[in-house]
Amino acid sequence: MLSRRARLLSYARRYPYHIPCPGTACREANRWKPSRKLSGRTPAAKKEPPDFAFAFDIDGVLLRSATPIPGASQSLAYLQQQQIPFILLTNGGGKHESQRVSDLSRSLSLTTPLTTQNFIQSHTPYADFLHNSSSGAGLSAHSTILVIGGSGNQCRSVAESYGFKSVITPADIFTSYPEIWPFSSVFDSYYSSFARPLPKPINPTSPSSSLKIDAVLIFHDPRDWALDTQLVLDLLLSDSGILGTVSSRNGDKDLPNNGYQQHDQPPLYFSNPDLLWAAGWHLPRLGQGGFIHSLEGIWRRLTHGAELRRTVIGKPSALTYEFAEKRLDRYRRDLICQTMGSEMATPGTIRDLKKVYMVGDNPESDIMGANNHKSQRGTEWVSVLVKTGVFREGESRYDFGKRPELKPRIIVENVRAAVDWALRKEEWEGRVE
Ligand SMILES: [Mg+2]
Repeated sequence: MLSRRARLLSYARRYPYHIPCPGTACREANRWKPSRKLSGRTPAAKKEPPDFAFAFDIDGVLLRSATPIPGASQSLAYLQQQQIPFILLTNGGGKHESQRVSDLSRSLSLTTPLTTQNFIQSHTPYADFLHNSSSGAGLSAHSTILVIGGSGNQCRSVAESYGFKSVITPADIFTSYPEIWPFSSVFDSYYSSFARPLPKPINPTSPSSSLKIDAVLIFHDPRDWALDTQLVLDLLLSDSGILGTVSSRNGDKDLPNNGYQQHDQPPLYFSNPDLLWAAGWHLPRLGQGGFIHSLEGIWRRLTHGAELRRTVIGKPSALTYEFAEKRLDRYRRDLICQTMGSEMATPGTIRDLKKVYMVGDNPESDIMGANNHKSQRGTEWVSVLVKTGVFREGESRYDFGKRPELKPRIIVENVRAAVDWALRKEEWEGRVE
């Protein structure tokens, strides 16, 4: 005798586009899309969860500084009401995801609050570093990491919430050894307000008992570029990440990269390559990408042209888009589970996610990332560019003829127009109200 669960699964596999009606599962299934009009798709598909979803950038798409962009609140509220899945995929960060979600829900006046399940900041993929050996540089929870960027202690707290137990900040190093970069004395009171004692002293004459950094993770835009640049350079030139030492291999022309970064120095990660971002000022402002280019320039000069080996995540990196798609896929399944019951939401009983509409304002991150993404699940990413942020029509750096990787599938006025365009393409009956 087959169990109820086995009967449901068997039925769902035979009739993948029709929901069976034995009891609870049926009532739950019929709750799908309560406000959706029933024309526009075949009858068999009417009870189906949508096989498309959205990914939204935040700055320049939903908000300008902290002010909502017209139509943003209504667009998200409509998708929530219709239970069409979406993620927020931003190169912003610097706060814990739960705090950002709560700030954003308030700024957009959403009746149904957003959740961290579908919210990805530039540094959120670092949370996977302890669970995914292919992206985590072999880090463990007890590895000592130097966390750079953000305001005060916030990024340390975020790193600790991801599971890292030994987190150092530049403030800790500067407060213990102010001579390491004397010009930062102007920030004395700021740094001393959140610095912690170092777990070990910096003692280059006794390397085994000295502070050793296992990885450098830039979480957010550095606030004190000079101190942060100096510390990163010290570590990249060190022997095995021990602060205060200098590798004897630096400059050895018999070694790869002239001996630079060939001595177990800590890997260097950046979370956001954006050169510019749309802030409250009327002109775009320098982002973390500016810090990357600045560091690269100094590194080239110091090493006489050696390559700076580093990893940059955040949009448009493949790592971030893959992470986002996985997160979106899981979120969609959870949503279907809540709506239809877990029995109907097991793998093989629901259609795969076919299409993701990436709505962004920055051709060099949002659009290029979506255009280049090679989904491991066969999901198509469709790029939609809005005019409410960084992008300005007619600027030479957005010459799509010369840079086809930046060319979006469509350019629309704003996020509301983007959502409505996608809904029309999907033959969805309703529109953003
Ligand atoms: Mg943006």
